[in-house]
Amino acid sequence: MPIGNVDTGLDFHAITEIISAYNEHICKSCSGCNTSRLCGVCYATVRKDNGFHHVNGYCHALQLYSKNMLSEITSLLEKNPALMENITVDYYQAVS
Ligand code: SF4
Repeated sequence: MPIGNVDTGLDFHAITEIISAYNEHICKSCSGCNTSRLCGVCYATVRKDNGFHHVNGYCHALQLYSKNMLSEITSLLEKNPALMENITVDYYQAVS
């Protein structure tokens, strides 16, 4: 998806067309999606030679994965309520 070059700079017309096509073909159902904040779909992952296309089954798989992951995390926290605090404290001590 060329959006310009070093000689002439950014091609804002091309950029606008890319964004419009992405919004039209990919983002139709995203506003109501309960896993949108975990979604990894980007321009590069859904671009094919002839335009933007969803990867078959991606949305359902992500929603199922997110549901299972939330269930696992909840189960772990029910067994060990201090787990999240311990993990974050360990993390911030390690990076500081
Ligand atoms: S999972 Fe699918 S519907 Fe949800 S935000 Fe990502 S692309 Fe959109």
